[in-house]
Amino acid sequence: MANTTPLIELFSIGTELVYGQIHDTNSFWMAKEIVGLGARVRRITQLIDDREEIKQAFQTAVDRETDLAICSGGLGPTPDDLTSEILAEIAGVTSIPHENVIEDYMKRRGSHNREEMNPNLVRMATAPTTARCLLNPVGWAPCIALDVEQTTFLALPGPPREMEAVFRRHVAPYISDRYEQRSATQRVLINTHESSVAPFFEELKAEFPGSYMKGYIADQSTPGWLPVDIVAVGETSQEAHETLQAIIDALRKKVEQIGKTVTVSPGSIEEMG
Ligand code: ATP
Repeated sequence: MANTTPLIELFSIGTELVYGQIHDTNSFWMAKEIVGLGARVRRITQLIDDREEIKQAFQTAVDRETDLAICSGGLGPTPDDLTSEILAEIAGVTSIPHENVIEDYMKRRGSHNREEMNPNLVRMATAPTTARCLLNPVGWAPCIALDVEQTTFLALPGPPREMEAVFRRHVAPYISDRYEQRSATQRVLINTHESSVAPFFEELKAEFPGSYMKGYIADQSTPGWLPVDIVAVGETSQEAHETLQAIIDALRKKVEQIGKTVTVSPGSIEEMG
């Protein structure tokens, strides 16, 4: 069986994200998809377009023995797009234009002459020698896959539409192939304050290893009822769903002992994995 507890980290690269000009929706979207694939993200980092900051962040992810580091942004052709160069630096290799990307560009442009290739495209096709470039189905910048020690980096383009397409085409199958665990999630509502049920969450997390439970106190849409998100994992989708049901049953029992109620939040059942 493949590794069932991959250590996955996300990196969102772009000064505009850190300066509060653009919401980092890429990480939010990817984290949710990754849970849906049965894996889990342990850390999300947002970085300005600064060579040293990015290099240090990538290197420490390797030092933390991260299995999979997925980054988005900084793959374009402009000088502030540094992701590919930095990956080459930390892998200790040079960069070259990758033939499969150049061929794809020529095909898409209907060009037969390599010399006519726009320099910006050649720059986007340029990646570390030891990387694999996975073609972008909706844009130009390819996804760069590179192993550095035990860490696999997957660098995705920043525009959300491209990031999502590349994730679906390349990253989701990569995660599903390697990590066989599956997950199931459910939001429930409890008619009490978080402080009175938080100890139950800790007990249940210990009883059901790998599971996750958290009260969503910022959600005011159900006055008097605390929304609680539950994620259960298993080696198959069916096992994850059975564990989820067992957690809900155990939580209900504990909550009823203090005279309160658990209801399943309508319309929130999500089939995953
Ligand atoms: P490009 O070829 O467009 O330069 P790129 O891979 O270099 O692609 P960036 O330049 O970093 O990507 O980002 C392009 C645009 O995508 C940004 O202006 C921003 O609007 C959006 N974007 C980048 N990262 C994120 C993110 N994490 N969340 C939401 N939007 C993002």
